[in-house]
Amino acid sequence: MSVFVLGSINLDAVARVDDLPRPGETVAGLSLELFPGGKGANQAVAAARLGAPTRLMGAVGKEDAGPGLKTKLSEYGVQVGDVLELPSVPTGQAHVWVASSGENMIVVTSGANAAITPQHVAATSLDGQRILLSQLESPAHAIETLFRAGAAKGALRMLNAAPALPQGAALFPLTDILILNQTELATYAKLDQEPVRLEEVSRASRKLMSRPDQVVIVTLGAAGVACIRRDEAFLIEGRKVKALDTTGAGDCFCGALAACLSINMDLREAVEMANAAAALSVQKSGAAPSMPSKREVEAFLEG
Ligand code: ADP
Repeated sequence: MSVFVLGSINLDAVARVDDLPRPGETVAGLSLELFPGGKGANQAVAAARLGAPTRLMGAVGKEDAGPGLKTKLSEYGVQVGDVLELPSVPTGQAHVWVASSGENMIVVTSGANAAITPQHVAATSLDGQRILLSQLESPAHAIETLFRAGAAKGALRMLNAAPALPQGAALFPLTDILILNQTELATYAKLDQEPVRLEEVSRASRKLMSRPDQVVIVTLGAAGVACIRRDEAFLIEGRKVKALDTTGAGDCFCGALAACLSINMDLREAVEMANAAAALSVQKSGAAPSMPSKREVEAFLEG
């Protein structure tokens, strides 16, 4: 059974500098690296690396980095036949500046990602797709169309409501499994402080539910993952690892969870596996290149 991801595809351009520039200032970069990025692409790579046949739907520019990004994603095992190449539109980009102090500044331009429409989604066949997974870097109306079509086919709809956006909440009633980090949970549940203890996380998560069968999963960084259902809440503790680069940890978790659920794994077991996959991903730098394979995750869990 397979995973269908509707999501963003970006070119991440990471420049290292001694000090971040002030407004109006020009500084010399020390290095420049280009990576495939975007939450949709990262999550699709994570699901594919965990062994699930994975289709990605999204849009890139036709005349710039877009076609090369598609090739790269297919090398990671992602099926990119539903990725549109649009003329006269730039591919989405993230411009990241990292200072030697570790501080960073990031500008994300959505470019082609914003051009996906409900009509594009409606024209795609979802036959045989067990899991639908999306994030809020794609237009909410397109996600709504996907989730409504998926419900009619009995698919499991997973939403990683990141970044936290007001229009995201309208999708919650159409979602079966909602995945958030603590900051996003605090924003949607309108809390002044990030919830930390399981009780607080559960209370805040339940505010976002509108159906008794919904699940809310809250990632807690190094502390692990909280899983909340109407009558149950449990914590899967974070794996003790030495974190090198946590970029894409949440994306790894979401993609890995989708892959595990696509083979009908029990929810607790799937969360444990995704928690282990995400812990492995923080030990390597970059997002897509750090996604572990199924064999690596199984060996880590056994070891
Ligand atoms: P996001 O990247 O969206 O902010 P988190 O920081 O909550 O999300 O990380 C997502 C998941 O990645 C966590 O729930 C955990 O499974 C794993 N993770 C993140 N940081 C660490 C860490 N330092 N050690 C072990 N696991 C981690």
